[in-house]
Amino acid sequence: SEPTTATLAPARLPIGPLLPVVGGNLATPLAGGRTARAVNLDYAASAPALQAVADHVTEVLPYYASVHRGAGYASQVSTALYESARQTVGAFVGARADDLTIFTRNTTDALNLLASAVPEDGEVLVLDAEHHANLLPWTSRRHRLINTAGTITETVAALEAALTERPAALVTVTGCSNVTGEILPIAEIARIAHAHGARIAVDGAQLVPHRKVDIAALGLDYLAFSGHKLYAPFGSGVLIGRSDWLDAAQPHQAGGGAVRAVNAEGQADWTTGVARHEGGTPNVLGAAALAAACRAIDELPEGAIEEHEAALSARLLEGLEQIPGVRVLRAWSDSTDRVGVVGFTVEGHEAARVAVYLSAEHGVGVRDGKFCAHPLLNRLGVTGGALRASLGLGSRSEDVERLVNAVRTLVTEGE
Ligand code: PLP
Repeated sequence: SEPTTATLAPARLPIGPLLPVVGGNLATPLAGGRTARAVNLDYAASAPALQAVADHVTEVLPYYASVHRGAGYASQVSTALYESARQTVGAFVGARADDLTIFTRNTTDALNLLASAVPEDGEVLVLDAEHHANLLPWTSRRHRLINTAGTITETVAALEAALTERPAALVTVTGCSNVTGEILPIAEIARIAHAHGARIAVDGAQLVPHRKVDIAALGLDYLAFSGHKLYAPFGSGVLIGRSDWLDAAQPHQAGGGAVRAVNAEGQADWTTGVARHEGGTPNVLGAAALAAACRAIDELPEGAIEEHEAALSARLLEGLEQIPGVRVLRAWSDSTDRVGVVGFTVEGHEAARVAVYLSAEHGVGVRDGKFCAHPLLNRLGVTGGALRASLGLGSRSEDVERLVNAVRTLVTEGE
């Protein structure tokens, strides 16, 4: 008999963007002269700028002038903008009053700065599941690489065992894997590190765009993240954290602005605080843009990002997992929390070719390769590279559906 309305599965309502992004309706050329709306599922690499960020940059652009040492009106406005951006970005992640919020170029720059600030005799513990940005800055100094196990429980236990065996100065971990989207228990790792007299640094590049991060509440000593993954344009990032190591470190960028005085022999009396590491003319617009992104995100209702992303991620995971030959990557079998970053492979299809096919035939942009996380990809047995679809504030259910349908078409009909 005909199904009644009551027995029909509820229709899946479309999900729209949570906030407008610049370029959200770009058209892309397809093979055969067709065009389609470009679907951007590569937020984890660089997220599109929020419209609110673009509007703010346009508003402050007339005041573009060098900061700190100019007496002119535009310089005063730019200085105020730059310093208030520092406050906003620090407050966005719950920085403590005595933390330094140092503007950097990106997460890589921030972690390199921190690597040069850890006392030389102190050892650093690093997980091998890290993005290279949180792996390579540490390998040129005293460090121990911890092999990640198949579960988070075992991985945290391995970190704890390493700390018990020999003290360390710092444990550095990612908040969220850029390959699998899985979230690590950073508050627990912070407690363990502190119990063994070590500090903790978190690579927040992938976590901060997706989750509320509160440095003080989580007990983090340092946090690094990038503006271009947080809906601001390229070129601004931050390192936030305890001042003592940073004040004692060699200046990250030796030059103007980082000194109190220089004598006739060229010897510098380096200043302390944020200026010590921000030599040269800073990226004022980048800082202002990043602050605008933080404000726009803060204005969203609590839990809105998680809810939007959970609904889209569920459709994405369910859709991909139903396609024969698709393997969704997981680094830890016991992980329970994840963001909308999904690494996957398609059996019998080279990742780089799939990525080209998705773009050329379906207008879908994803990432392919080893995502600057070679040790993790090797552990997962992914030799030739994988694909990664990642979501954010501008994503909609139509984006997910286009990707899932495209991968299904590829598997059933071929390229
Ligand atoms: N850490 C993680 C987890 C990342 O995903 C990335 C970028 O992909 C980085 C660090 C490096 O960020 P950036 O290239 O902005 O320095």
